[in-house]
Amino acid sequence: MAAQILDGKKLSAEIRAKIKDETAALREKGIVPGLAVILVGENPASKVYVGQKEKGCLEAGFASFLHRLPSSTTQQELLGLINRLNADASVHGILVQLPLPPQIDPDTVLAAIRPEKDVDGFHPVNIGRLAAGLPTCEPCTPKGIMRLLRTTGIPLSGKEAVVIGRSNIVGKPVALMLLAESATVTICHSRTKDLADHVRRADIVVAAIGKPRFVTADMVKEGVVVIDVGINRLEEGLVGDVDYAPVSEKASWITPVPGGVGPMTIAMLLENTLEQARKG
Ligand code: NAP
Repeated sequence: MAAQILDGKKLSAEIRAKIKDETAALREKGIVPGLAVILVGENPASKVYVGQKEKGCLEAGFASFLHRLPSSTTQQELLGLINRLNADASVHGILVQLPLPPQIDPDTVLAAIRPEKDVDGFHPVNIGRLAAGLPTCEPCTPKGIMRLLRTTGIPLSGKEAVVIGRSNIVGKPVALMLLAESATVTICHSRTKDLADHVRRADIVVAAIGKPRFVTADMVKEGVVVIDVGINRLEEGLVGDVDYAPVSEKASWITPVPGGVGPMTIAMLLENTLEQARKG
């Protein structure tokens, strides 16, 4: 079987076109969705992500407030900026690009953002609401993964889902979202014994590890749905956490890298910001 492609580029373009239309309607009522992005330091990958987010905002008709701070910025200075943005009515979403320089504690910074403006969905209150099954601002990458899964038309209820990776930004929240859809969820990580045996049982695999081509064809069963979150920069270009060509021979659906989960993350960030702007 050759897998069907879960095309995040196409789906995200459709979502962004809808966001643009809805933003135009909102602007007629005098509301301009505003996203503030804070970049501290010179991390090259972060600069690329921030550039993509700014471009996405401008294309959607949002106001984009980009704050570039030097790597010597103190935690107090960053918290001061967040407090000002928390109080600024023209800012509906605040995003602090991670990682932060070592003198700044990311947990303290993320907790300082008002939960209603936490469009990344990383605030402990929003993560707690997600865990409790309450409405919340969902983290963007996991939200985008669930949107991609929905396009397969495959009911998730009762399915075996194996998530590889337990980070707060991908693995844990996507596991909670799959659970909320009544999948039977296993979370694997670096201490998991016999990881391949878990993955081989899976109807759905979410690979969020950060190791190029980690998931190989012998680790998956025929017909599996594969979501590859990994972004690994090799000399040959961007590579996911899944050994794409051989795995796609066995899978029923698979996300490519690039063009799968990545573009969905930005679309969900814009959607979260629009939702907050609508709430006022
Ligand atoms: P992370 O915080 O580094 O977490 C990686 C996870 O993988 C950890 O839970 C780790 O386990 C697990 N792991 C590492 N080596 C393993 C092994 N040999 N066997 C089993 N598990 C292993 O990474 P992340 O932030 O979740 O990101 C994961 C990947 O997704 C990265 O490539 C990142 O660039 C990419 N990403 C993409 C998007 C997007 O928009 N497409 C968004 C976010 C992240 P332990 O917890 O035991 O250490």
